[in-house]
Amino acid sequence: MMRAILVILSIRTTLRVGVAVFLSVALAAEFSIAQTDNPVPSMPEWGSHRFVEYIAGELPVVIAVPHDGDLTPDILPDRTFGVSARDNGTQEITRRMITEFVQRTGKSPHVVFLHLRRKKLDVNREEFEAAQGDETALRAWTEYHAFIDSVCDRIRRTGTPVLFIDMHGQKHPEGRIEIGYRLESDDLALSDAELNGPVLVEKSSLQWLTARGPMTHAELVRGPMSFGAMFDRLGIRSTPSPSDPSPESHRFYSGGYTLYRHAVEDPDGIVGVQFELNPELRQPQQSASTAKAITGAVLEFMTVHLGFRTTTEEVQ
Ligand SMILES: [Zn+2]
Repeated sequence: MMRAILVILSIRTTLRVGVAVFLSVALAAEFSIAQTDNPVPSMPEWGSHRFVEYIAGELPVVIAVPHDGDLTPDILPDRTFGVSARDNGTQEITRRMITEFVQRTGKSPHVVFLHLRRKKLDVNREEFEAAQGDETALRAWTEYHAFIDSVCDRIRRTGTPVLFIDMHGQKHPEGRIEIGYRLESDDLALSDAELNGPVLVEKSSLQWLTARGPMTHAELVRGPMSFGAMFDRLGIRSTPSPSDPSPESHRFYSGGYTLYRHAVEDPDGIVGVQFELNPELRQPQQSASTAKAITGAVLEFMTVHLGFRTTTEEVQ
């Protein structure tokens, strides 16, 4: 009888200590978020001529915004070939995402903006097409990618996986987010079994995550815990996703030079994705809700696939 009472007392004490620890952790978490409700944003670092802006963060998330700059300096000649369309709204959405991340986690992502118009420099192309022989443009191209390289390397050296996001906009009539993993329409038209084959996995910006398991490549691309599924649950159309597993015959952006360079060429510890947002999501009056939706999907993806925990994953 005495022994039974002692056991009960000891269980009660353990429970009480457990509750106290839980409460103090919860309060600490709340406190730390409350402290950073209105954080002083970190001072940006600039490349030469202020063409490239890097805002340092604390989360293992790196966001690049290449095609929403508005500078057209005379010192740079116009490019004579290639695309020059602007991805309007992607800079505003990304700035709002920084605020969303801070509100939800107390921490911000790392962000790199190019402030030049695309007719002056396209950082999402290899250097010849990007800068077309102009030395000043080439320097900005080099600085842009060096900021991304340097922060990704710094994070993964700590053993924390990096989520790299390349933010874009398109105007295709289907009105859905095109999610790029460097897999083209023809690849996505294949069966899940074929998508899981080594050639397509090696081509993909999800290759490191696939190798780590436990989900298959096809599950990560369009299964119930894919980015597409997270957008489905938010009522936002996207492809690839459970509801739109492939773009079929429609035009589709599969991921460009930047995604290849930073998430496929040297993929250790890197998970990469390109978001091509449709015009409806990029309208100025939609930028707050778009930022909220994408931030929510990104945090869910990090929690499910990258073991992200707000209180422990921190990179200064
Ligand atoms: Zn773009």
